[in-house]
Amino acid sequence: MPSSGSEPAFPRRGGVLHAEQVPIPAIAAAVGTPTYVYSANTIRARLLRLEQAFASVPHRIHFAMKANSNLAVLRLLHELGAGVDIVSGGELFRAREAGFIGRDVVFSGVGKTVREIEQALEERVLLINVESEAELVTIDAVAGRQGVVAPIAIRVNPEVTVDTPHAYIKTGEKGQKFGIPRDDVARLVAMVHELPHVALRGLGMHLGSQIGNADPMRDALPRLLSAIASARADGHAIAYMDVGGGLAVPYHADEGDADVDDYAEIVLAAARETGLTLLLEPGRFLVAEAGALITEVLYRKHAAGKDFIVTDAGMNDLVRPALYQAYHRIDAVESIEGTVVADVVGPICESGDFYAKDRPMPDVSAGALLAVQTAGAYGYTMSSNYNSRPRPAEVMVDGDRFAVITERERLEDLVRHERAHLQWRTA
Ligand SMILES: *Cc1c(COP(=O)(O)O)cnc(C)c1O
Repeated sequence: MPSSGSEPAFPRRGGVLHAEQVPIPAIAAAVGTPTYVYSANTIRARLLRLEQAFASVPHRIHFAMKANSNLAVLRLLHELGAGVDIVSGGELFRAREAGFIGRDVVFSGVGKTVREIEQALEERVLLINVESEAELVTIDAVAGRQGVVAPIAIRVNPEVTVDTPHAYIKTGEKGQKFGIPRDDVARLVAMVHELPHVALRGLGMHLGSQIGNADPMRDALPRLLSAIASARADGHAIAYMDVGGGLAVPYHADEGDADVDDYAEIVLAAARETGLTLLLEPGRFLVAEAGALITEVLYRKHAAGKDFIVTDAGMNDLVRPALYQAYHRIDAVESIEGTVVADVVGPICESGDFYAKDRPMPDVSAGALLAVQTAGAYGYTMSSNYNSRPRPAEVMVDGDRFAVITERERLEDLVRHERAHLQWRTA
């Protein structure tokens, strides 16, 4: 096992792309394609990087597990001391299966059901992040029925302008469904006193995803700090300040990494000022670069003056290009001479089913393997069975070893929950 996790996840050796020390063709031969491959050492290195940046204040890193909720990935992060940020009862279940206990868990999300709130309280989660007045009242009622006091944090919408690569990943701007509008925070904070079964322990925010510089954080923090100060003045025993996730990773070859030190400097200053325990909710930052989607070229096609590379992976396997117009680097697993400007497209019957448009690509033939890079976050977790395609396998690599961490779905799995012979009922 390599000691330094700062090695690239997918180095090229002798012209062949490896995952750490394992040649990718060997994984494809053993497991088939399409397959997600993750580097354990890259995940370790990313977490360590953040841990080091925030070491000077009391803090906890809660991995936003919607980015990658595979049990083996969660177990790895659990072993390393991270907590999780969850957004559903399903994620709570996964977190428990991976070994996390209640106090490792922060529960976010704009639409928690009563059942999910019950589960969260039964598991004694660290905090439930409140996103509306109605939800606050519901949490109080559920906690009352259980005879407990729910530890909550109010998620403030700081209403700052956030420059993300796609509008669908903004969350901290005015008019978004997320968080409590700035002007309503004081009223909610006051309301908590009248509700006997909630205790306000924190204030938080989440500005959006793939935020490339520290400016939005610089703009938003004073707003969070003033909310914290007024909550304290109002007599609440605030213990936590949650700055959410959103740290960017480079998707393009020429992009730099997010400036963690710049980001940390601003956040650390605020954390010191408050003396509170800092909570961070990175998702993408911890796992995106650790993953690649390995796919086989099925066909080359020339049509209407264009070149196409048709792969066996499609938008059901990795939806980010179709959903967010996201860019992913694509490498030939085995180096070849020659390039071609081509569209890389999947087999799905949707014109949005492409990974690249008019991009200079290695001039690969059918049977070649491609690695769609930076696919460790919001890849498998957003996959679907569209076009009745079994979802891909997932593999973890650690040094010179690899293990299947999700079996490829079988055809029977596609219809497992369906009924062709109906048991009619009447109301
Ligand atoms: C999605 C989400 C995150 C993680 O976002 P990344 O961009 O993956 O870091 C953190 N907190 C909350 C509340 C989220 O919804």
